[in-house]
Amino acid sequence: MNKPERIPLSRPSITDREVELATDAARSGWGAQCYAYLERFEVAFANHIGVPHAIATSSCTGALHMGLAALGIGAGDEVILADTNWVASVAPVLQLGATPVLVDICADTWCLDVDAVRAAITPRTRAIIAVHLYGNLCDMDALQTLGNEYGIAVVEDAAEAIGSTYLGQRAGAMGAFGVFSFHGSKTISTGEGGMFVTSDARLYDKVLSLSNHGRVKGQTRQFWPEMLGFKYKMSNLQAALGCAQLERVEALVARKREILQSYRDAFAGESSIRMNPEPEGTHIGAWMPTVVVDGQSGVMANGMLEKFVHANIDARPFFAPLSTLPWMPPNATGANAQSVYERAVNLPSFHDMTNDQIARVSYVLLEAVRRA
Ligand SMILES: *Cc1c(COP(=O)(O)O)cnc(C)c1O
Repeated sequence: MNKPERIPLSRPSITDREVELATDAARSGWGAQCYAYLERFEVAFANHIGVPHAIATSSCTGALHMGLAALGIGAGDEVILADTNWVASVAPVLQLGATPVLVDICADTWCLDVDAVRAAITPRTRAIIAVHLYGNLCDMDALQTLGNEYGIAVVEDAAEAIGSTYLGQRAGAMGAFGVFSFHGSKTISTGEGGMFVTSDARLYDKVLSLSNHGRVKGQTRQFWPEMLGFKYKMSNLQAALGCAQLERVEALVARKREILQSYRDAFAGESSIRMNPEPEGTHIGAWMPTVVVDGQSGVMANGMLEKFVHANIDARPFFAPLSTLPWMPPNATGANAQSVYERAVNLPSFHDMTNDQIARVSYVLLEAVRRA
């Protein structure tokens, strides 16, 4: 029997506009023009997010690394983040010699449980990384209140939250700084790439210097690093792709939301299936439509993933708790982090996905739940 056509998890949407700008950058984006698309992308992105400063980087991980370094975080410091995360959010903490303190998530938002954060604060806590998982939103008001109360920086990993807003503010614009990813799987893609954004002019200057091998803006002496920095810059070629993608951001996010809604409609009759929540006052970018199946239903993530493999559909496992990585410094595993992981699956959601493809994915999941 022929296998049905493969449905990928994600894939960037590349139109003639992206090709046009990338081609122009390849032809003429050199010499005096070597920063033209970079500067254009940074200004446009800062405007989109609603912050004064943005620095394009080679990855989101690099942007987070520099931001935490600019806050002075290092050995002996503790940084709180959710147990449920991609490794990119914790790697820079460890690379700076600081200690990650992993706390449980809320069962409904899959983001930081604020009570657990409060309980984890010690005199050594220097930062809280609010990761807006799968485009869902952390409770930023409560986290900022906590941060202010204890004098701890709240930073946002908004890699998955392009198009997400919280009480009218864009994800990434609320914390001491925000970071974004333009990896090929993200809502806006430059192949690889990221962005650092902040409203803090001093933090901006620091990260700008760090991002350029420690060379300070406006310095007259050439090839003179004032400090040990990083090499996490984006290329002008990638920025050209970013400019074209950003022109289309409203449409790209709208399509993500539309796909999520189609899944919601398909699963509306199944009370054991929950998807990405959108609490009052929030608007989610819906980067990754995700289903969590009720513990009583008898279906587990492994079982669902097996059915998707058979159907040639690239669904993906939910992030495993970071605390279960054998090389991670010891942290208790969050009960919700473990339980949601065992019952959740990410569904395909690329821009050009057809209604037939959405129907195929929905059917496989519904069959898995109904036959359990
Ligand atoms: C994708 C992602 C990153 C890493 O982004 P890169 O650009 O690959 O470094 C970091 N945090 C989160 C939440 C992500 O989803």
